[in-house]
Amino acid sequence: MTEMHCHFCGGVIPNGAKVKYLPPRVTAQVAPAHPDPCSCSPPIVYEHSPLDPDEGETAP
Ligand SMILES: [Zn+2]
Repeated sequence: MTEMHCHFCGGVIPNGAKVKYLPPRVTAQVAPAHPDPCSCSPPIVYEHSPLDPDEGETAP
């Protein structure tokens, strides 16, 4: 239902993918989300993005 976006490349993380969760960093670079699939191995997600206060609410 809620799409997850890789914070490294901004791509969509497929359901069931093994995501690597990292603690948030002030210096973290978060790529803008886009509709293309993520091709990272593994996808990177920051637990609490400082740039994304609306976590959990992702536009389609
Ligand atoms: Zn990615």
